[in-house]
Amino acid sequence: MAAGRMDCDVAVVGGGMAGLTLGCALAGAGVRVRVLEPQPVSAQTDPGFDGRTTAIAAGSRAVLEAVGAWPAMAADAQPILDIRVSDGHSPLFLHYDHRALGDGPMGHIVENRAIRRALADRLAALDPGALVEGVRIAAAERGARRAVLHAADGGQTSCRLVVAADGRRSAMRQEAGIRTAEWRYRQTGIVCTVEHARDHGGAAQERFLPAGPFAILPMTGRRSSIVWTERDDIAPAILALDEAGFAEELGLRFGDYLGDLRVVGPVFSYPLGLLHAETYVAARLALIGDAAHAIHPIAGQGLNIGLRDVAALAEVTVDTMRLGLDPGGAVALDRYERWRRPDNATMLAVTDGLNRLFSNDLAPLRTLRDAGLAAVNRAAPLKRLFMRHAMGLVGDLPRMIRGEAL
Ligand SMILES: Cc1cc2nc3c(=O)[nH]c(=O)nc-3n(C[C@H](O)[C@H](O)[C@H](O)COP(=O)(O)OP(=O)(O)OC[C@H]3O[C@@H](n4cnc5c(N)ncnc54)[C@H](O)[C@@H]3O)c2cc1C
Repeated sequence: MAAGRMDCDVAVVGGGMAGLTLGCALAGAGVRVRVLEPQPVSAQTDPGFDGRTTAIAAGSRAVLEAVGAWPAMAADAQPILDIRVSDGHSPLFLHYDHRALGDGPMGHIVENRAIRRALADRLAALDPGALVEGVRIAAAERGARRAVLHAADGGQTSCRLVVAADGRRSAMRQEAGIRTAEWRYRQTGIVCTVEHARDHGGAAQERFLPAGPFAILPMTGRRSSIVWTERDDIAPAILALDEAGFAEELGLRFGDYLGDLRVVGPVFSYPLGLLHAETYVAARLALIGDAAHAIHPIAGQGLNIGLRDVAALAEVTVDTMRLGLDPGGAVALDRYERWRRPDNATMLAVTDGLNRLFSNDLAPLRTLRDAGLAAVNRAAPLKRLFMRHAMGLVGDLPRMIRGEAL
C-alpha cells in the first residue's frame, strides 16, 4: 500500500480464507470493506505455499455459495461419499454412507489454493479495491468513534470495526491484550498429496494410529491428500527421509487398497496445538477464524468453524448497519461473542478429547473406544446426529448457512 490513508466501515486484518470470505460477504451486502493482507494472493496460491486441502462441510459450502465463490472452486471440489473410521488395525470401524443422510455428499475436499484463488477473484469482482495486498498491520488505535490501523509502511486505515482474521499468532489479538488458553499436542501434522492407481470412489479414511490420526482424503482424479499426525520426536526423522524412504513409511500406513502410490509435490509439516481466545471482542474489534481459535485437525473442522464465525459476524454487522447503528459498538460485538464463543468452545473440547482418547496405544482405552465406535455404528439416529454436527448443520445457524439472503 502506498503510505496514505483509507476510510472504510470494516477493516479485515488478514486475507486468509476466513478474512477473504468475510470480505466477500460484506462487499456483497454493500458494506465498505477493506481486507488488508501482507502476502500477495499470487504467492498464496503457489503450489509451494500451502499443500493442504480443506474438508468443506455442507454448512461451509452454503457460506461459500452465499458469497458467490463456490462456482469457481466447484471443479476442484471432490465430493465425500463415504467416511470410514478405524482404530489402528482393529476390524471395528465406523462407516458413514452419504445415502443414509440424503442425496447430497457429506462434504467436499478442496485444495486450499483453489479456495483462496476463488475467494480473491470473487472479492475483486464485487469490489476491485477491497483486497489490499502488501500491507502488514503493525498497530491499532481503537477509539470511541473509529479505529485507525497503522501499517508497517506507514499507511493508515480508518474504520468503525476492525476484524482480526490474522491467524493463530494474531497481532491484533495481542495488541488488544486478549489472553488465550493454549497448549501444544507434541504432534506434527505431515501433509502431502499422493496419486494412486485405483479410484478412491469418494471415500475418506481416518485411521487412529498410536501417534495420532492418519487421514486419507479424496481429491479430484486419482489423488488423495494425506494428513498424517506424528509424534514430535519422530516427525523430524520422517521429514528428513529421501523420497523412497518417505514413500515406504507412508505406504506402511496407507496400505495397498488403492494400488501403487506416488507422492506428488512437496511435503509440508505443521506443529499442532489448541488455542482459544478468552474473549472474541474488545472495543471496535472482533476476532474470527484461527485468530480466535485453533484446533487439532483430527475432525477437519478448523476452517469450518471459522466460516461459521464469518457467517455470524457478517449477519450481525449487516443487521446493525441496516438499523443505522454502529457495527463496532458494544451491542453488536456482544451479540457476536455470545453467538460464536460457546459453540466453538464445544468443538474445541470435542476435538481435544478425541485426540487424547485415540492418540495412544493403551489397551484399556483401545477396548473402550473400539466398543464406543461399534456402538455408534449400530445406533443409526446417534450416527446421523454426529454426522449432521460434523456437516455444520446443527445449532443456531446464521442466515447464510440456512440458504437465506444476508
Ligand atoms: C494439517 C492441517 C489440516 C487442516 N485441515 C482442515 C480441514 O480439513 N478442514 C478445516 O475446516 N480446517 C482444517 N485445518 C484448519 C485450517 O487450515 C485453518 O483453520 C484455516 O487455515 C485458518 O484460516 P484463517 O483465515 O483464520 O487464518 P490464516 O490462514 O492463518 O490466515 C491469516 C492471514 O492473516 C495474515 N496476517 C498475519 N498477520 C498479519 C498482519 N499483521 N497484518 C495483516 N495480515 C496479517 C496472514 O498473511 C494470513 O494470510 C487444518 C489445519 C492443519 C494444520
